[in-house]
Amino acid sequence: MARNAVKVLQDKGNTAHVLIKGTSTATINALRRVSMSEVPILAIEELGIYENNGVLFDEFLGHRLGLIPIKMDAKGYRLGDKVKFSLDATGPGTVYSSEIKFNDAVVDVLDKKILLTKLKADQRIRIEGEAVVGIGKDHAKYQPCVIGFRALPTFTINDTIDANTMQKIAASCPVKIIEVKGKKLSITQEADCTLCGACEEVGGSQNIQVDADDTGFILMMESTGALSTKEILHTACEIISTKADEFMEQIKEGL
Ligand code: SF4
Repeated sequence: MARNAVKVLQDKGNTAHVLIKGTSTATINALRRVSMSEVPILAIEELGIYENNGVLFDEFLGHRLGLIPIKMDAKGYRLGDKVKFSLDATGPGTVYSSEIKFNDAVVDVLDKKILLTKLKADQRIRIEGEAVVGIGKDHAKYQPCVIGFRALPTFTINDTIDANTMQKIAASCPVKIIEVKGKKLSITQEADCTLCGACEEVGGSQNIQVDADDTGFILMMESTGALSTKEILHTACEIISTKADEFMEQIKEGL
């Protein structure tokens, strides 16, 4: 992979589009899979329910707590690390995720307004437990993001298209990335092309041809917020690199 082969096309905190050139489908898919299933994050795993006379069963409450996204310091926690938490709420009222208290200041729920349960005047829940660092391969609650990719489009444009056809081709594009500039067609944002083929249909493949590059990809990801998209990709790359090193070591030992 050449230098400058990676470009962040869009970064909105929890969502990102990243262009990666000079790689293969297998490599990009490895990055996708490791990002989702092997990058460790915190989730509530163990708990003791000391009091619960509310309407939700213990199991139901436990399940809800387990699925609450938790923000953490990616560098400070390793797989298997634990953080204690407690939740003590008395009715009447609505119990939100904001009432979960962790005993590490850098750890907290991502969204304070996740509804856990409602309690009447004489009801109370008192829970203590631990959030544990785990991976998505073991349970979906540890999956830090959803991530997909698509091939980068490539364009072959005939230089001798007549003006009328050029206008029709430009108008056919649903994402408006084809422009007539001077006497030529130009593509403004190639990464936005959805490979729908409308321009080829209208203009004819002798005039414009759109293909999928099998060495360039656009990675589209959305994080739960537990880690930033950048942290997830960095960690995934480190995991792949460690696995590759171990694999090479094993091969060398076996020869
Ligand atoms: S394939 Fe579809 S999205 Fe891509 S440039 Fe052509 S019309 Fe636009």
